[in-house]
Amino acid sequence: MKLIFEKSVPGRHSSLLPACDVPAYELPVETRQEPLDLPELCENDVSRHYTQLCQRVHGVNCGFYPLGSCTMKYNPRIDEEAAALPGFTAIHPLAPSEAVKGCREVLDLTAKYLCEISGMDGMTFQPAAGAHGEFTGVLLIKQYHDARGDKARTKIIVPDSAHGTNPATAAMCGYDVVNVASAPDGCVDLDALKAALGPDIAGLMLTNPNTVGIFDKNILEITRLVHEAGGLCYYDGANLNAVMGHVRPGDMGFDCIHMNLHKTFATPHGGGGPGAGAVGCKDLLKKFLPKSALMEGEGSIQVRGFAGNFLVVVRALAYLMTLGREGVPEASTNAVLNANYLMERIKGTFTPAFDRVCMHEFVLDLSEFKKETGVSALDVAKSLIDNGMHPPTMYFPLIVHEALMLEPTETESKETLDEAAEIFRKLFDLAHTDPEYMHHAPHHAQIGRPDEVAAARNPIVRWVKA
Ligand SMILES: *Cc1c(COP(=O)(O)O)cnc(C)c1O
Repeated sequence: MKLIFEKSVPGRHSSLLPACDVPAYELPVETRQEPLDLPELCENDVSRHYTQLCQRVHGVNCGFYPLGSCTMKYNPRIDEEAAALPGFTAIHPLAPSEAVKGCREVLDLTAKYLCEISGMDGMTFQPAAGAHGEFTGVLLIKQYHDARGDKARTKIIVPDSAHGTNPATAAMCGYDVVNVASAPDGCVDLDALKAALGPDIAGLMLTNPNTVGIFDKNILEITRLVHEAGGLCYYDGANLNAVMGHVRPGDMGFDCIHMNLHKTFATPHGGGGPGAGAVGCKDLLKKFLPKSALMEGEGSIQVRGFAGNFLVVVRALAYLMTLGREGVPEASTNAVLNANYLMERIKGTFTPAFDRVCMHEFVLDLSEFKKETGVSALDVAKSLIDNGMHPPTMYFPLIVHEALMLEPTETESKETLDEAAEIFRKLFDLAHTDPEYMHHAPHHAQIGRPDEVAAARNPIVRWVKA
């Protein structure tokens, strides 16, 4: 497929603008004078170009997308409509507060609901993504220790089942990372945690349920131990789909949390569009929250302009108000039910890494299967594409080898889950009869197997005119 720049024809355009009825303004000479190198096409060409691009990718609207840890669920269109209302889109970030009272109400009400759901006391919407929220949250913890004059705390504990952004965040905030192993049941090893705790520990970062889909039964003990050692507890709530409305991180003993509004709360994601990593905290951290227009924080850090990606917050509020007090826990109940149903249906063929009731996601361990058939988790993932399904998350978490991590979400029907289980069964059989075919999958996709190493080492993300 040609790039839009290659389709450009000099002089081609669609004149849709009415004639100018205000005096023309001459740009000062110091502004850019040479023409921008933009593609020139008519509306029809542009429409076809982007429609063709759409058809080359797999989105939630195309089919099943069980990408573990990413919560690729269907986002109701009504939330998009709310976010498109002119009262929200046509505002200026510097408008005086009394002119945007409705927007302020959106921020306050969403913060109130999310504090209620997470068990926190204060919130900021400045961070634009989950990792950005982690960064903000750990900076709150850092400021807390600094304000007490406690400079000895230079380390953050991160369990080995953590999302890769957690150790990266701790390092970005200037902390050394202490890795704590998981016990064989997938939970934090309490003895290893006790051994790691001390006066040099600023805090702990944890996801619960963790990335293998297991709710840590010792969570109250874990947060108690960290507090006893003078540290604070950070909850990676990127994905709240298993627990919202049922159990609150604040009640588990956490002091600070981020929530990806673009995973759990109705903003489409995956294409790098705007997100929001809302950060909530307990009273003791509230005074360190970023000071931002329209929100209450008074701290000295600033991670983004104004109130963050405001329209993402509008979607989250529309979503929460549509679901209501009953709908929120019902959504997470169904997410957990769907994950367990799919795991049970797949179990006869592929092997779960942890054979017990899971939360919103589960991990398959294909190491034995690979020994038997030579077919890897990657081969299975690529074969799923040929069957109209987006692959699960691969080779993550790192504690499971040949891992495939599935998160079906609550928005999938029983029929879709049955169909997916049937595809897995079919591929399990195929691996035993024609493994060679699977080594070369996908056979029917627009793109085969890209050279991922070369793409990572030498990314070409910009068009350069020949
Ligand atoms: C997705 C995710 C993140 C990172 O969120 P981004 O918005 O991609 O930065 C962090 N932790 C967990 C557990 C996640 O699932």
